[in-house]
Amino acid sequence: MQIIEIYKSLQGESSFTGLPCVFVRLAACNLRCNWCDSEYTFTGGEKMSLEQVTSEVHRLMASGGLVEITGGEPLLQEREVLPLMKQLIEDGYTVLLETSGERPLMNVPPSVFKIIDVKCPDSGVGESFRLANLGFISKRDELKFVIASRTDYEFAREFTAQHELLSKSGNVIFSPAFRKDAKGSRDVSHCLVDPQELAKWILEDGLGVRLGLQIHKLIWEPSLKGV
Ligand code: SF4
Repeated sequence: MQIIEIYKSLQGESSFTGLPCVFVRLAACNLRCNWCDSEYTFTGGEKMSLEQVTSEVHRLMASGGLVEITGGEPLLQEREVLPLMKQLIEDGYTVLLETSGERPLMNVPPSVFKIIDVKCPDSGVGESFRLANLGFISKRDELKFVIASRTDYEFAREFTAQHELLSKSGNVIFSPAFRKDAKGSRDVSHCLVDPQELAKWILEDGLGVRLGLQIHKLIWEPSLKGV
C-alpha cells in the first residue's frame, strides 16, 4: 500500500481525543475540500507491505492501544487496507478509521471504530456523502461535520435530524474548520467559525451533538505535519 507517514501522537478529533495513538496515513484522495489540511497526501508516499506497516506500528506502540488509519482517503486502497485493519485487530489494537464518507463502508470490519465525515456545503464537496453508508453505521461509529459557516451549521443540524444520526451512531461531532494556511499562534483564531459562536448555536437549538476541537492544532504549531 502507498503510505505517506506512520507516527505516534495524540488522537485529536473524536471521542478518543487526547489518547496516545499511532497514525497510519495513506496516500491519495479523490476529494478536494476547500479547507483541506492534508494536501501533501495527494501524491507521493512510499510503497509498504502489510508486514512493514504492522511492524512499524508494533515498534512505535508495542503494547496495544489506538491505531488510526487515515489519509488522504484510506479506502481508496481498500484491497490493502481491509487486511491491514483485520491484522491490527488480531494483534490486539483498537482500530479507528477516518474516512470521508464517500467510499463504501460495507466491507469495513465491524470492530473498527469508524470516524466518518459528512462534508458540508462550504467544503466544496457537499454532495459527496454516500447515503447508502448510513446502513453500515453502528453505535461504535462517529459522524463528524467540519463547519466553516452558519450555512454549514444549518446543513449539519438538518442532516443529523433527517437521518436520525444521534440514535444510529455513538457520537455526532460538530467541529469548526481550521484555515488550511494556519500557522504561528496555537489558538482558535484560525477557526473559520468561532467555537464560541458554534457552542452558542448548539445550545440555542438544544442539539445533542458534541462540539469538537482539533486539539493537535492547539497543542502543536498548526502547520506542523506528523503530530
Ligand atoms: S477528504 Fe480529507 S484528505 Fe481528502 S480533500 Fe477532504 S480533507 Fe483533504
